[in-house]
Amino acid sequence: MLRLRQAAFMGRDCLLVYRADTARTVRWLPGALEAMLLLQRSGHELIMVIDQPGLATGQVRSDAHWAWAAAVRLQLHDVGIRLAGMLLCPHDPDGHVAPYNIACECRKPAPGLLLRAAKNLNLNLGNSVMFAADETDLARGQRAGVSQLVWIQAGAQQHWAGRTLVAPTLLEAVQTLRRGPLDAV
Ligand SMILES: [Zn+2]
Repeated sequence: MLRLRQAAFMGRDCLLVYRADTARTVRWLPGALEAMLLLQRSGHELIMVIDQPGLATGQVRSDAHWAWAAAVRLQLHDVGIRLAGMLLCPHDPDGHVAPYNIACECRKPAPGLLLRAAKNLNLNLGNSVMFAADETDLARGQRAGVSQLVWIQAGAQQHWAGRTLVAPTLLEAVQTLRRGPLDAV
C-alpha cells in the first residue's frame, strides 16, 4: 500500500522578510531556516506556498519570478533543506497578463493548490500542518482539510485559538508543536 507522507505547508510570508521578488533580495525571517530544518528532521515534506498575483497584473515579470524561485531553492539547498514543492498561484482575474488573468481554483482561500499537491506528492493532509501569515491563507489550509493550522502573527503572544496555534514566528510555533500538537487545546 502506498504510504502517504506528512507535509508542512508554509506561506511565503511566514518565511521571508518581505515580498522580495528578485533573486538578489531573498531574505529569511529570523529562525525560519532553523524551523524548516526541525520540520524536515521530524519527517515533514516541506512545501512553500506562494501567491504572486503580480504575475497576472504585470507588476512582476515571470523571468524575475523564476530567478527568485531558483535563488530560494539554492539558498535552502546550501543549508541542507530540501523543498518537496513550491506551489504557486500566479492568478488574478482582474489582471491583464495572459494566461494568468483568470479566475482559478488555487487563489487563496481556495484549496486547489494544496489538494493538487496532496495528489501529486502523495501527502496525507489529515496528518499535515499549515503555517499561514494571514487569515485567507489559513482558510486555504482549513478548506483543504489540513489537520494542524498555525497562524504566524509577528509580535503576537503565543496562544491557542480553538485548534489553531497563534505564534509570533515559525520557529516558536514549530518548537511548540514538537512538544505535542494538540495537548494545549
Ligand atoms: Zn490560482
